[in-house]
Amino acid sequence: MSETGSVHYDVIIVGGGITGLSLACALKMTGLQIAVIEQQQPEAVTDDYSSRVSAINRASLQLFDEVGAFDLMRKFRVSPFWEMHVWDSTGVGEIHFDSAELGLDTLGYIIENNVIQQALLERVSQADNIAWLCPASVEALDVESRIKRVELTAGETLTAPLVVGADGSRSMVRRAMGIGWVRESYRQQAIVCTVATELAHRQTAWQCFLPTGPLAFLPLADGNCSIVWSLDEAEAEAVIALDPPDFATRLEQAFEYRLGAVTLVSERAVFPLGHGHVEHYVREGLALVGDAAHNIHPLAGQGANLGIMDAACLAEVIAHALRSHRQWSEVHTLRKYERSRKGENRIMEISMSGFKHLFGNRNPLLTEIRNIGLNLVDDAGPVKKMLIKHALGEV
Ligand SMILES: Cc1cc2nc3c(=O)[nH]c(=O)nc-3n(C[C@H](O)[C@H](O)[C@H](O)COP(=O)(O)OP(=O)(O)OC[C@H]3O[C@@H](n4cnc5c(N)ncnc54)[C@H](O)[C@@H]3O)c2cc1C
Repeated sequence: MSETGSVHYDVIIVGGGITGLSLACALKMTGLQIAVIEQQQPEAVTDDYSSRVSAINRASLQLFDEVGAFDLMRKFRVSPFWEMHVWDSTGVGEIHFDSAELGLDTLGYIIENNVIQQALLERVSQADNIAWLCPASVEALDVESRIKRVELTAGETLTAPLVVGADGSRSMVRRAMGIGWVRESYRQQAIVCTVATELAHRQTAWQCFLPTGPLAFLPLADGNCSIVWSLDEAEAEAVIALDPPDFATRLEQAFEYRLGAVTLVSERAVFPLGHGHVEHYVREGLALVGDAAHNIHPLAGQGANLGIMDAACLAEVIAHALRSHRQWSEVHTLRKYERSRKGENRIMEISMSGFKHLFGNRNPLLTEIRNIGLNLVDDAGPVKKMLIKHALGEV
């Protein structure tokens, strides 16, 4: 504690979700003194599967492995997927990816968000140089001086030369930085729940593009599937109001009975969908990562993966500056992180919006074109390889 009654750190990370915890773990080896501030106790992992899951790509798995968190995730439970089927419900267009054809052991893993958070948190709590402050909420952030001041709701004050906003799409760090943010609503909602299916999911991730929005069935380790069903707002409200058997009937129809009859085995949760991207990721002594900097449609399951890559990149930029005895928290250094990540995140945001509009369009000519396109890509080895490499985070 300093004379002014504040506690000093090197890095303060606001937000202990997947991105914030990934960053803390990736920074551990730098020896910097780090505080992670999280307002909500993470959801405990129980025998019941959480309905919030993420398709984690190979690039993110590498970071989890490097920080020793993937072994812990495996001990809880994870579910590999070996194949991916994507098709257009309005025609015959279909594309299929197979890890065996690509010479890979998996295309990725479906992991519950609370499993990811618990495993990363366990690594954080074993580190001498990381303080986990939870539940604690940031009340105010003074960004004017070189050393930033963070005031917690409980009255405590923390100071650091670098504050990172990993506090999600409603980021208060972003507001304090004075960085503009326009989030455009898709006027869609995603319904998320767990279902049992009559036919085995075969460790395959399934995605059907309906005119009303994409519907994904993601394989879980116990044989059930986690679904993400994006629908226009009015339709989502009507579907969520159905009782469980009627909801299951609508779902199996929408999914063209690919996995036979469906039974709802969890509560249903709803998430409003939109997209947005900040103009700047960094200022002097300040940086944004994950959903605080960019929001995309969940149709390709990439939001968390992008945040994890932001965390890996920012940690590497800081570590490199430390090794080179350069100022690691100043804006010239932090811009290296912005330059590395902004372009890729922007391409992903635009691509997801493009897919959403292309597949949401009922124009018969467009329907024809996208069906031909899907089949052409499925037949064209190099294009298909390029697409899958991007999805795996390997470009
Ligand atoms: C339906 C759906 C399905 C998805 N599926 C996938 C998928 O398959 N694969 C994938 O990669 N991505 C997926 N995503 C996206 C992914 O969930 C998000 O991109 C990811 O969770 C963002 O993580 P984050 O840590 O950046 O932000 P958040 O998860 O929003 O975490 C921010 C954290 O900051 C805390 N916080 C906020 N304000 C404060 C404050 N003032 N003080 C202290 N703490 C604060 C919050 O409590 C929270 O824990 C999906 C999204 C949705 C909606």
